[in-house]
Amino acid sequence: MAGFYIITVRDDLRPRFQPELHDQDKRPTRCPACGYDGPEHSKPSAEAGFELLDCPDCGLGRTWPPVPGSEIGKWYPEQYYGKTNVRFNALFERMIRWFRWRRAAVLHNRVPRGPVLDVGCGRGMTLAFLRELGYESHGLELSETAAAHARDVLKLDVATGDFLTSPHEKNRYNAVIFHHSLEHFANPVAAVARAYELLKPGGVLFIAVPNYGSWQARLFGRFWFHVDAPRHYWHFTIKSLDAILARHRFRVVQLDHFSFEQNPYGLLQSMFNAAGFRFNLLYSLLKNSTARTDTALRYPVQSLLHAALLPFLVPFVVAATVLETAFKSGGTFEMYAFKE
Ligand SMILES: [Zn+2]
Repeated sequence: MAGFYIITVRDDLRPRFQPELHDQDKRPTRCPACGYDGPEHSKPSAEAGFELLDCPDCGLGRTWPPVPGSEIGKWYPEQYYGKTNVRFNALFERMIRWFRWRRAAVLHNRVPRGPVLDVGCGRGMTLAFLRELGYESHGLELSETAAAHARDVLKLDVATGDFLTSPHEKNRYNAVIFHHSLEHFANPVAAVARAYELLKPGGVLFIAVPNYGSWQARLFGRFWFHVDAPRHYWHFTIKSLDAILARHRFRVVQLDHFSFEQNPYGLLQSMFNAAGFRFNLLYSLLKNSTARTDTALRYPVQSLLHAALLPFLVPFVVAATVLETAFKSGGTFEMYAFKE
């Protein structure tokens, strides 16, 4: 999502702190979530040439320097989605379908039927399930490949392009969904303001993001699977996202700390990364052959070690995930908020 934007919002909704236009060399001066303007804590990123700057007040992290919108496409190679729009192996694809179905069913418990907009809808699976449940499904996606699948195969209304200037009608939607997409926005504050505009009064904003304040994130730092810099421009803590939503007059009504889809795997992959294995090798091995960047043939010893360790590690990460959830420190979190 390209660069930083200036958008028109009602004066009383205007964020107090606009992220500033800046060049690659200049340090950022203000936290866009809480407004803190002192020095940030700096950490190295796993990706060479980038660092992570953390706000000492609200904990919001940012990938520095941010990749300009005109160049971010290079960080999403065709393999990111898979050539045939099948990302993972057959078993995981089935699991992902089940997770998307659960996502739609959970939204159905909270959102009355009507128009819904999934921002960063990927291949459109959640939207297709929502349509089955009687919703009017609309999507927006950065990737042409993924959007084409949603449009041509699933016959969904999916636009591509900039969310901040998309042609969607204001005050119309019963729900706006950011399922692991808000962190991909160069300017998430403007994206939240835009979601507010599009929602009808009483509409539901749903956001799921990695939890940068979680045990996983703090323990593993740059080895944490969910950092994913520089594709993730921002790294949210609960406090920082709460601050952004409150400023836009959203009322947070529910906060969930458990995601079976995201949290055990995030911990498992982070452990392998920190132990010195090829970065995100397991993730690559689980992918469909067209989406794989690293293969078992290229890393035979490491792949065998993965296979040998997994039976011991999987029960451990599932148990650890339950524990982190009990302490409200899950590796990802999900927020539901009402437009008042
Ligand atoms: Zn802050």
